[in-house]
Amino acid sequence: MSQQWVYLSRNGKEAYAQVYGHEPSLNDMKVLFGGKGAGLVDMTAAGAPVPPSATITTAACVEYMNTGKFPEGLWEQVLDAVKDIEAQTGKQFGGTTNPLLVSVRSGARVSMPGMMDTVLNLGLNDETRAALAKLTGNEWFSYDAYRRFITMFSDIVMGYSRDHYEHKLEELKKKEGVEADPEVSLEGMKWLVDEYKKMYQEHFGEEFPTDPYKQLEAAIIAVFKSWNGKRAVDYRLHEGIPHDWGTAVNICTMVFGNMGDDSGTGVAFTRDPATGEKVFYGDYLLNAQGEDVVAGIRNTKPVSRMGEDMPDMYQQLVEITQKLERHYRDMQDTEFTIERGKLWMLQTRNGKRTSRAAIKIAVDMANEGLISREEAVMRVTPKEVDALLHPQFDEKAVQQAKDAGRVLSTIGVNASPGAAVGVLAFDADTAEAWKKAGKDVIMIRPETKPEDVHGMIASKGILTSRGGATAHAAVVARQFGIPAVVGARDLDIDVEAREVRVNGKVLKEGDWASLDGATANVFEGRIALTDPDFDKEVELRTLLEWADDIAARENVRQWPSDYKGFPTRGLQVWTNADYPKDARRARLYGAKGIGLCRTEHMFFEQERLPFVQQMILNADAAQALFDRQKRLQTILDTGKEEGANVSAERKAEVAVELEALNGEIAKSDAAKTYLAALAKLLPSQRSDFYGLFEAMDGYPVIIRLIDPPLHEFLPGHDELLARVTLMEAKGLTELPNDKEGEPPYQLDEQKTMLAAVQKMHEANPMMGLRGIRLGITYPDITKMQVRAIFEAACDAALKGIDVHPEIMIPLTGHVNELAVSQSELEAVAKQVMAEKNIQIDYKFGTMIEIPRAALTSSKIAEYAQFYSFGTNDLTQMTYGYSRDDAERRFLAKYVENGILPSNPFQELDRDGVGKLMRMCVRDGRETRPGMECGICGEHGGDPSSIEFCHLVGLNYVSCSPFRVPIARLAAAQAVVRHS
Ligand code: PEP
Ligand code: MG
Repeated sequence: MSQQWVYLSRNGKEAYAQVYGHEPSLNDMKVLFGGKGAGLVDMTAAGAPVPPSATITTAACVEYMNTGKFPEGLWEQVLDAVKDIEAQTGKQFGGTTNPLLVSVRSGARVSMPGMMDTVLNLGLNDETRAALAKLTGNEWFSYDAYRRFITMFSDIVMGYSRDHYEHKLEELKKKEGVEADPEVSLEGMKWLVDEYKKMYQEHFGEEFPTDPYKQLEAAIIAVFKSWNGKRAVDYRLHEGIPHDWGTAVNICTMVFGNMGDDSGTGVAFTRDPATGEKVFYGDYLLNAQGEDVVAGIRNTKPVSRMGEDMPDMYQQLVEITQKLERHYRDMQDTEFTIERGKLWMLQTRNGKRTSRAAIKIAVDMANEGLISREEAVMRVTPKEVDALLHPQFDEKAVQQAKDAGRVLSTIGVNASPGAAVGVLAFDADTAEAWKKAGKDVIMIRPETKPEDVHGMIASKGILTSRGGATAHAAVVARQFGIPAVVGARDLDIDVEAREVRVNGKVLKEGDWASLDGATANVFEGRIALTDPDFDKEVELRTLLEWADDIAARENVRQWPSDYKGFPTRGLQVWTNADYPKDARRARLYGAKGIGLCRTEHMFFEQERLPFVQQMILNADAAQALFDRQKRLQTILDTGKEEGANVSAERKAEVAVELEALNGEIAKSDAAKTYLAALAKLLPSQRSDFYGLFEAMDGYPVIIRLIDPPLHEFLPGHDELLARVTLMEAKGLTELPNDKEGEPPYQLDEQKTMLAAVQKMHEANPMMGLRGIRLGITYPDITKMQVRAIFEAACDAALKGIDVHPEIMIPLTGHVNELAVSQSELEAVAKQVMAEKNIQIDYKFGTMIEIPRAALTSSKIAEYAQFYSFGTNDLTQMTYGYSRDDAERRFLAKYVENGILPSNPFQELDRDGVGKLMRMCVRDGRETRPGMECGICGEHGGDPSSIEFCHLVGLNYVSCSPFRVPIARLAAAQAVVRHS
């Protein structure tokens, strides 16, 4: 017996159980029947009124794709299914008294809205059309159905674009002087059907097929093939859906919403997919077919108004959709049709929603007891959290735009929230091309179609003049989180002329516009954007509090018994913040500490940079003197020189030498300038750190000592050389400054700077004098920093602030580096605490950024009291990819060609870099049980990397303030996934 390829909706579950030996879960059914087919079977089983139907499995599609023909037994099973549907409905396929018409619909395992094909009204020919007319007493409708069928069949099954047919219809409407399709006369419809048949014959050289079974076979093949259509393939690539899943094909009894004023059709959501509000939401049309609603061709009515037109039907619809929501435990997006006073449910699926709605619905459903808090946390994606933290329009700027008369439209549907600013592009290809060229684009179209999706994805915002809240543009925009205003009817969008006219204004392609998908306001020109207001995001904050509770649970991570002091709770989320205002934002967003303060950023501030430059320019000369001084002093203190005892004579000699040297130092300009610059920087650094301790009261603050190569603080070599050359060539001693308000350049200063820069030149500065090597070479700089940190911490503690400074030494590669510098720095810390007469809680630790440090972790941990993985550098050095150049030069290609699974600077490379991390944490805690380990590289805000950090036993992840909420969600999701 051949495999079962076709299942009936009336007993699909039982049939599945017979074939597979177990009751199918909804997911089992989705895999085999596709989402739509599974919905038909499941909805029928749940007691919803579903038109009798049958589903051809995804497995059959896969077979067809592999062999190019129907698998054995498929067609016979289709014929049996048609017989069964005939029996259920009392209609006959091709029958001339009570004809059965069907729709043939695609439906993959996951929803791919509008990406594949569907044919409606299949089974019509001259005879069945006549029967339909007689049966319904509505001849006009029968011709309308027929002309729609010819159009769709030609377009979808035969590939002859529907535009040709639509053209004819427009011609007819013009001739008859009518605007809407239903106003066309009966004679007109008849003429149209004849014309369509002629067009078909002329184009294909054969008559339009009249045998319903031939029509059915061709339609099934067309749907199978649409799985590999361009739109579907593009969509799958974007969404990461495998290409070998295939689509199911659903053969459903047609019911008609266009049989008069007791008929209608619509789309209903159990909650508002834009806001998440628990209201009945959707669109419907009286006396219309489903495609009229979805295509956005006619302006629809909100479904909440159906109660006025058809109170009974409305009541039934509300009850059934709510039952379906409880059954699926998620917001449902349903399609329904009312055929002469009888309600039919055609489809239900978990509704696509905006990020905002996703969060609100998850939280509300958990509060309603429909799902657990864990489920709520798992239902929201990090991307959705991110979307809520995106900019909105600045209210003042909006008011100004309104006052200045820059409002273009306010009457559209607020289909997908968020603010967008961009240049207008009138078609998808232009939008895509402009995005590639680096422009922000708003795509503007009368309406969108599935073939526009690539342009929509490339756009910052979407604007249409037709359609309602469930039009294609709205659905797709919500899905991708792109702000959208649809159905702005006052916009006269002229795609041919590449312009939009409204209220006497004309905007051309390439002109700037702004739109607000939450208010449906559209403006001419650019509107300033502001930061989002986290305080007002009540549901998001609730969800993240639940996430924190989940991550704070003890015993969610388990370790082998010989793993010493590994955390058993989930990850904490800290932040990378250099300034108090960032720290405050991060704390508002839920950060529980600072994992990285990059102190050098403060050096770049305008009023400090001159002192930083003086420090750098004099460091070498001053340090040479200090080094000599230290050497002589050590001889006097220890009585030893190079390991051997020194004579009294030698001692006296050294004492004289030292005195002379001290005199020299006192007079040395280099030493004086160097120390003066450090003294200038100390108070600024102290006040920076004080602000951080204040903002992070009660939480740890990790401050990293200076890290980058010093030349980064000086002007560029080429720039200096060009300037000096120019001044010398022109005999100038002075040149106006490039920056407004700055004093002119002096030739001698520029020459000194150039010489210093040339002296400092390194072939590979990222692997040169930076990080801990700098601190060892110029210890006074890092000592100044440690003094500033401890002075600030002690002052703050004296004011009652709960401080926990952690001093982080960057770029350690060998334990001896730490041995030397850490003790010197800790001595400064102790001295400051003694001066201030207060003891505070502190740690000294290091970044793990060099593979050798990770490999020798058991040694490094003898000194370091904590580790923080600097995975930016660790990735650079493990792969040997320059982080500054790789992305620009070859990395994108590597990822595109599948050489690398993803960009390792974005998503942690678990196999390589991750292996080092795992080993490093384990060995470090072997030496120092319970040692605090975290991450502060960019990966600390990436969900996949966060999951990995959970798995290797880090205590926290640290990321930029804006990514803190995402990280909180990801930390909880790692707990749910792995405990
Ligand atoms: C790192 O290397 O991961 C790091 C955080 O340091 P930076 O990016 O400042 O080099
Ligand atoms: Mg680094």
